Amino acid sequence: VAQNPAQPEFHQAAKEVLDSLRPVIEPNEEHYRKEALLERLTTPDRQILFKVPWVDDNGQVQVNNGFRIQFNNAIGPYKGGLRLHPTVNLGILKFLGFEQIFKNALTTLPIGGGKGGSDFDPKGKSDREVMAFCQSFMTELYKHIGPDVDVPAGDIGTGGREIGYLYGQYKRLTTSYQGVLTGKGLNWGGSLARTEATGYGLLYIVDELLKDHGQSLEGKTVTVSGAGNVAIYAIEKAQQLGAKVVTASDSTGWVYDPEGIDVALLKDVKENRRARLTAYAEERPSAEYHEGRGVWVVKADVALPCATQNELTLDDAKTLVENGTVAVAEGANMPTTPEATEYLQEKGVFFVPGKAANAGGVAVSALEMSQNSERLSWTFEEVDNKLHDIMKDIYQNISSAAEKYAKKDDFVSGANIAGFLKVADTMEAQGTAI
Ligand code: NDP
Repeated sequence: VAQNPAQPEFHQAAKEVLDSLRPVIEPNEEHYRKEALLERLTTPDRQILFKVPWVDDNGQVQVNNGFRIQFNNAIGPYKGGLRLHPTVNLGILKFLGFEQIFKNALTTLPIGGGKGGSDFDPKGKSDREVMAFCQSFMTELYKHIGPDVDVPAGDIGTGGREIGYLYGQYKRLTTSYQGVLTGKGLNWGGSLARTEATGYGLLYIVDELLKDHGQSLEGKTVTVSGAGNVAIYAIEKAQQLGAKVVTASDSTGWVYDPEGIDVALLKDVKENRRARLTAYAEERPSAEYHEGRGVWVVKADVALPCATQNELTLDDAKTLVENGTVAVAEGANMPTTPEATEYLQEKGVFFVPGKAANAGGVAVSALEMSQNSERLSWTFEEVDNKLHDIMKDIYQNISSAAEKYAKKDDFVSGANIAGFLKVADTMEAQGTAI
């Protein structure tokens, strides 16, 4: 804490991981201390901070802060998204980069952990302004990335449009056509099923968890927060698997739709028109719109937070338990506060942390890298089947690590321990260079 002041999200993420590593660390404490493995693991390899000047539509020069955290490349090139949101700061990106190390290790694919972004807010900006920002951002970032070095991707605020502008500028600066970003368009190296991957993967792991406990998604009521990339495809897959999803939210309000969310309308509102959920509610007679937050008051069997960090609090967790929720799985990164997580686990609610539950997105990003390397494109079914297998493997890994080192169904410990062992063993094998 003293070395990294004013980074509460990073402290929260690091504490959660370190606490759950006790069963592995304590029996070998002297060894881990001598190797300084925990210090090495919690210190980023590199933190790149830079200025992003750009000109708005009024001719006014604007200045944003740009970041890229290259956290750990023990098992592969740094990999992780770029977040564009006014709340972005160093501590938030360090928390995300740190989590990414374990998540990427769990995917079974060779990718290290990183994260980046800016406090630029794409909301309300014209396409030209977004392009001007992206070109300026990449003019610095391109020096630090490469297909075998660091491969950024999308995250909050960074979708297909932004990846396109960033990729165009990379190509212009380097004159080379390489798989240096993922989430690309299908005509220029993108992978089928990447758009769907995080949301679909979340439901594949929930499905696996429920089946493992003699249940299924068929006929279950599900609440989802968020209305972005993760939320939309989580809702779509949940409905394909026979569940009814009754909520969605954005940062100003939420909808309750007892008939089940109309995914086609939601996609049209959010993906085509870039409009607010009020537009969804206006066009859907069965939907109620509420200002503010409140998704978790709705009674549901399964709750899927898919918006942002710390959006499901202890009070929300108490409401979920009162309402008989059986499972919570994190589509977003760290959406559940530590107190809420602890409470849910204590009360016997199955809880799958984001580093396992939302790993489908980065897994398909790694498959996009494979396709770029062989200059081939796989079919949707091929990628989707691989994603499904990866999510099943992740479930098996975290479940058996939980049973071996902590306790049955403690998926938080299972995910942290399984990810840690893979990265720590590799760091030791590669010596003190990393
Ligand atoms: P999007 O930008 O597509 O959507 C984010 C959604 O969350 C929007 O509905 C947004 O509402 C809402 N939201 C954002 N910030 C807040 C806030 N402070 N309070 C309330 N609501 C908020 O992002 P994604 O769907 O891609 O990402 C969602 C989460 O999933 C993030 O935590 C991200 O890191 C994580 N994730 C994403 C992956 C991916 O492949 N996309 C992969 C793994 C994790 P509004 O439009 O009003 O801002």
